[in-house]
Amino acid sequence: MNTYYTVQSKYTSSIINGIATHEMGHALGLDHSNSTSSVMFPYTFYSDGSLARTTTSPGSDDKAALASLYGHLAIAPQSDVSANPDVKSDNIVMLHPSWAVGYKDIQSLAKDADMIIEGTIEHSKLKKNAPDDFLSYKTEHTIQITDVLKGDRSFKHSSMSFNQLGGIDSYASVTYDTGTLLHKGDHVILFLRKDDNGEYSLINENDSIFFAGDLTKKEYKYLKNNEKFTKDQIQAKIK
Ligand SMILES: [Zn+2]
Repeated sequence: MNTYYTVQSKYTSSIINGIATHEMGHALGLDHSNSTSSVMFPYTFYSDGSLARTTTSPGSDDKAALASLYGHLAIAPQSDVSANPDVKSDNIVMLHPSWAVGYKDIQSLAKDADMIIEGTIEHSKLKKNAPDDFLSYKTEHTIQITDVLKGDRSFKHSSMSFNQLGGIDSYASVTYDTGTLLHKGDHVILFLRKDDNGEYSLINENDSIFFAGDLTKKEYKYLKNNEKFTKDQIQAKIK
């Protein structure tokens, strides 16, 4: 648990209980659910302060998912357990973060963004603390900015860097279920937040990526829900 958030008074013991149950669900193999009655709903609060995950215990969807994962376990041969390959041999790691704050719409996301930029990824560099510290994997992208939709307009036609969670190197491939690792040449509109160290990062990963593939395409796909937008439509929501 991220104690930066959980020490705040709005995190009652019931809400913390819900987060713990959510993380236990992941440990048992459950993915996120879009249903607000599921304890696997990925957000704790909405940006307006209202409660997003309204349950602290497994819902009927969660129980059904667990039953399909483990319902047959009693008759599975024990030898399967020892036959499992060593996880380290392939090092493909998928992480399932739950976000402290969810956004009901693009307007509320824009409000929390320090910069909203349009640009093309120029190059990317992996940063990590230790080889097997998968949670520390971050990718630092440098982006050539074609337009600033919110924030310091002097960045226009220059480049800046920002961090994305996860990354790939010769040791491991670390990805997030609610993230999409960007690559050189990707043309995007991004919602960025500046942290206490002055570094920029995406707000909730896919929640903050509008993806156009390349400059010739005039349509942006919102990676949160695959909705299509023109730049004008996105700009109209920012004002
Ligand atoms: Zn989660």
